[in-house]
Amino acid sequence: MASDTKPAAKRFYRKRVELFHLIAKIKLWPSRSGVLHGIRTIERFGQTARITTHCNRTFTANNSRNSRAARWLRNKMFVGVCRDCGVPDWKLEKYNATRFTRHHGSRLDSEERH
Ligand SMILES: [Zn+2]
Repeated sequence: MASDTKPAAKRFYRKRVELFHLIAKIKLWPSRSGVLHGIRTIERFGQTARITTHCNRTFTANNSRNSRAARWLRNKMFVGVCRDCGVPDWKLEKYNATRFTRHHGSRLDSEERH
């Protein structure tokens, strides 16, 4: 990293954070092929949600902490970033600086009650 750019502040989220809370926050979605998309909308239907990316792809997700998407997001498993989504660098840097820990960090659920 260039020395004149300020590194993104590290943020800590719980490992067991709900998937929907997590994606509502980071607005990124790893497709099955390992491409990271930017999320445009999340429509929740109870414990499932329809996710629409900026490149107009839709995915259905279950609100599971152990789903493929949840695990890939936590482990930052992706092979590339979708060009059509135009995910800005600052968003990726923020995501890169995000750590998932078992014992401390935000569960992200309090933020939904505002
Ligand atoms: Zn995309």
